[in-house]
Amino acid sequence: MPELPDVEGYRRVLDLCGSGHRITRIDVADAGVLRETTAPRLRKALVGRRVGAPERHGKWLLARTDGPTALLHFGMTGRLVAQAPTDPLAPHDRVTFVLDDDRQLRFRDQRKLKGIWLAEDEDGVDRLIGDQGPDALSVTPAQLDRLLAGRRGRIKSVLTDQSVVAGLGNLLADEILWRAGIRPSRPASDLAPGERRRLAGAMRSVLRASVKEGHVPARPSWLTGHRDDPDPVCPRSCGPMRRDRVSGRTTAWCPDCQGDPAPTSGRGPAA
Ligand SMILES: [Zn+2]
Repeated sequence: MPELPDVEGYRRVLDLCGSGHRITRIDVADAGVLRETTAPRLRKALVGRRVGAPERHGKWLLARTDGPTALLHFGMTGRLVAQAPTDPLAPHDRVTFVLDDDRQLRFRDQRKLKGIWLAEDEDGVDRLIGDQGPDALSVTPAQLDRLLAGRRGRIKSVLTDQSVVAGLGNLLADEILWRAGIRPSRPASDLAPGERRRLAGAMRSVLRASVKEGHVPARPSWLTGHRDDPDPVCPRSCGPMRRDRVSGRTTAWCPDCQGDPAPTSGRGPAA
């Protein structure tokens, strides 16, 4: 499932292939991914437009042009791929943006849970993503303190609530909480100042490493590298990991490293 690092990767694809080029054609193979717009309206708005520097907020990709902005959300299975005109259409290539150098940017999505929106201006952008919290990559420790204050929900649910912090999904939240030594089911408002600091530090280091790779890496030293093993073992404590449902999502965590709700300092695995 695409999270902040994946969408950041798609932003780089769009920037490298698209920026400065004109859109000469838009092929819509499946209008099921067009949200609140139609293929003719998408073409009228964007064909002939020059692609600007793309932006990302949380899991949203803002495809800027010298006219309207297309907003892409990748849901569970979406991707943005750059292709040559000779590359055959993949079964789940739903919309293809053809550029003036004949290269193509394809919105590829099997499950079509989200898709492509169109915003005529900044009010339109704000209407679509104005409810999002600050982007997780830019959240400071002080900001995180304010965001968590008074939140009664479980910390895992609060972290993956896009209106609190934008960009974190299931993998990132579990990795960050494991690294910070915080049990995913703890009430967010119960975290001690030292735990919130560790959480902010873990968020920053996990996000930076993941953005470099364009996804949450399944490294041997990371929880993500073991969470899908048949009998997962924590790479830090070597104890058995647990997989529970927290707010409807499979949550991997380690009772040894994250079991004790008492605040301690300097806890948590090394990077
Ligand atoms: Zn452990």
